[in-house]
Amino acid sequence: MRNPVEGKDIVIIGSGVGGLSAGIILSLLNFRVTVVEKNPLPGGLMRSYRRSGFDCPVGVHYVGALGEKEPLGKMFHVLGIPVDELFTPMGQEGIIDRYIFDDLIFDLPTSIDALEKNLRSTFPEDTAALDIIIKNLREISRRMMDPSFLLNQGDPFQNMDYYESMGKLLDTLQVSAGLRAVLSVPCQLIGVPLSDCPVIFHHMVLASYLFSSWRLKESGSKMTEVFVRSFQELGGSLILNNGVKKISLVEGKVAGVILESGTNLPADAVVAAIHPKVLLELLDVVALRPSYRQRISELKETEGVIAVQISVDSAAHPEINHNIYRLHRNENGIIEDGVFYQLRGGNSHGSNLLSIITKSSYSEWSQWESTVSGRRGKDYEEKKMSIANSLLQKAQEIFGDLKDARILDIYTPLTIRDYVNCPEGACYGLMRSSQQLLKVVSLNNIPIPGLCLAGQNALAPGVLGSIMGSFNAARQIIGAERFAQEIKWDV
Ligand SMILES: Cc1cc2nc3c(=O)[nH]c(=O)nc-3n(C[C@H](O)[C@H](O)[C@H](O)COP(=O)(O)OP(=O)(O)OC[C@H]3O[C@@H](n4cnc5c(N)ncnc54)[C@H](O)[C@@H]3O)c2cc1C
Repeated sequence: MRNPVEGKDIVIIGSGVGGLSAGIILSLLNFRVTVVEKNPLPGGLMRSYRRSGFDCPVGVHYVGALGEKEPLGKMFHVLGIPVDELFTPMGQEGIIDRYIFDDLIFDLPTSIDALEKNLRSTFPEDTAALDIIIKNLREISRRMMDPSFLLNQGDPFQNMDYYESMGKLLDTLQVSAGLRAVLSVPCQLIGVPLSDCPVIFHHMVLASYLFSSWRLKESGSKMTEVFVRSFQELGGSLILNNGVKKISLVEGKVAGVILESGTNLPADAVVAAIHPKVLLELLDVVALRPSYRQRISELKETEGVIAVQISVDSAAHPEINHNIYRLHRNENGIIEDGVFYQLRGGNSHGSNLLSIITKSSYSEWSQWESTVSGRRGKDYEEKKMSIANSLLQKAQEIFGDLKDARILDIYTPLTIRDYVNCPEGACYGLMRSSQQLLKVVSLNNIPIPGLCLAGQNALAPGVLGSIMGSFNAARQIIGAERFAQEIKWDV
């Protein structure tokens, strides 16, 4: 979408954090906005779900950079979303994440200075490499304080060295296997392997959590409620349980959408806060050049996960204010498998909630590819339960005896696929790897006037990336000049 949109009516497809934040920004800019959601409840991956009285998280376990003067904090400020109502800071004991390897425990602390100190004392043989890595990390984190840097993608985005993969950089710097393994973890938070993770994304993710890290005070459903409330108070409309079936074009330009119910919603612009491959299905084949279509359909997805929610006795297993990663690496420092643990206060009396997440490829579940949630059959349930039980067993190496533990729920890549329409249940949408970055970035200029992307597939994944993608959509809709005049970042 190259020219600012004329007209006031905007339809946003998808009510995840990307769709709702786009809805709020565009309402603030005086557009008439309708968000359309296929599910009966809004929120997409941001929303949590209830099992046996527990509120189970899906796509918001912790976020970074929510401080007042930090990038996500500034975006929340523009959106008018109260950080204090939703989030509580982590790291009171100085730790955000604990990485447990067979031969090393490494704590990710709460600032770049503290990280530098930990890295230098743990890896004294890597002094020269750390000089370079920490210098780059500081430069990127300094730039990130200005959110328009993230949107403009100017320098240092134009510094091609930053697009190189972190793996290649670490090869060049000849780092030790231990340091390589520690620096691999942030890549997992955007679903890209270290060997293919652009330096810029690695450093942005790491820096965002080092600025400040936060957990939800209550739940993803409460977060959704607050986003919906802000959107509706600004006059926005929300249509639920009625997905978009088709985007209609007139003379090659967006004219509106047709819903599953058959309702026609006219619009001057459509913001697709959904996966780009799903967007393709909503357009007539002739709407895009075959080469463009093919480019999108061939893009690689990020990995899926299996997640297990477990209730544990709160007296024996009190809440832990940092996350734990149990990681296994090979002699070259390549992480071969990893498990994420979060032990949170439960909202059920006497119990806490242990969430366990680990990688699970889509192909592992291909046998049930053509089934839908809730009707996949006994074999699927048995396979899920067997993986969950073995994850529960392994968790005891970290948390001690979990004999009163009860598995509340398990979700797989197929669950995520069906829930939010994400091909292959990819947690972070399309993979922003060094190899396909230019192709993914080019998606941001969909050659159909009045159509743009928002959410995690626009610029970057995660809550920070998805909201950034929505600011970028607003910028495309009103034009860069008006955007610079009207969006005031400063708190
Ligand atoms: C297991 C897991 C853990 C994660 N943990 C974290 C974390 O701790 N911190 C973090 O920052 N990020 C995390 N993420 C990533 C983060 O959740 C996502 O980047 C973000 O929520 C994506 O938001 P979105 O709005 O782009 O997409 P989504 O939340 O997927 O929203 C898309 C919405 O569009 C709807 N939709 C799809 N097709 C249609 C249609 N045709 N018509 C109407 N509606 C449609 C879907 O139903 C959905 O509601 C995690 C993700 C997963 C899966």
